[in-house]
Amino acid sequence: MSEAFYSGKAKTLYRATEPGYLVMDFRDDVTAFNGEKHATLQCKGELNCAINTLVMEYLESQGIATHFVRQLDAHSTLVKAARVLPVECIFRNRVAGSFMKKYGLGLGDELAHPVYEYCVKSDALGDPLIAPGAITALGMLTPEQLEWTGQETARINRVLGELFADCDYQLVDGKLEFGLLEESGELALVDEFTPDSCRLWSAQGERFDKDLFREDLGDLVGGYREVHRRLCSALRQPVEP
Ligand code: C5P
Repeated sequence: MSEAFYSGKAKTLYRATEPGYLVMDFRDDVTAFNGEKHATLQCKGELNCAINTLVMEYLESQGIATHFVRQLDAHSTLVKAARVLPVECIFRNRVAGSFMKKYGLGLGDELAHPVYEYCVKSDALGDPLIAPGAITALGMLTPEQLEWTGQETARINRVLGELFADCDYQLVDGKLEFGLLEESGELALVDEFTPDSCRLWSAQGERFDKDLFREDLGDLVGGYREVHRRLCSALRQPVEP
């Protein structure tokens, strides 16, 4: 493997042999609270890699452009190189996490409609929420990119909400990242979509996402294995690994 191009909290990117492509390696690390809490959990990388492959292939099948090319081995995928936009896009369908704390709401409270938020991608600043007007005023996104990311986030929320409903999960919230593909200059979904980056609850409110680790609620690997099993079943694919 070539030298690491970028190492994040749970994934490492390497340059692929072919120019314009990267290898995204899902590690067994899990972190919370901006890296303050950390553990290494066997099989977590493989499960997230497999879940991410199912989700990205499904999104592509629904006409959503992603940087995903194909899974290479149990824990890595080939992706198209992209210039990642400097904001994260959050969607919320039910009240949880920072939204619950900020406004003093109850866990799982209903929302009259989905909420869409932007956060600055900056660990040093703690990924602060940013107003759409500030994003364009500061030149982080063009007005067209702001409009496109907003529409695409809503579309992905709808498409994945239906997919996870087929798995008997509520997609409570999630985080998306977009980037400009190096080769074509087109905007596409980048990074990952796994239970590390969204909240998934059963109808009874049982958790199947990173809150299992954040809040010491139970067995994260067991939860992720169940997400993978249900996705395979909903997408009529054999359960591997
Ligand atoms: O913490 P908060 O409630 O704002 O997170 C909303 C959603 O976005 C959660 O599903 C969380 O896992 C995800 N998220 C993420 N990466 C971040 C911030 C939030 O995956 N840096």
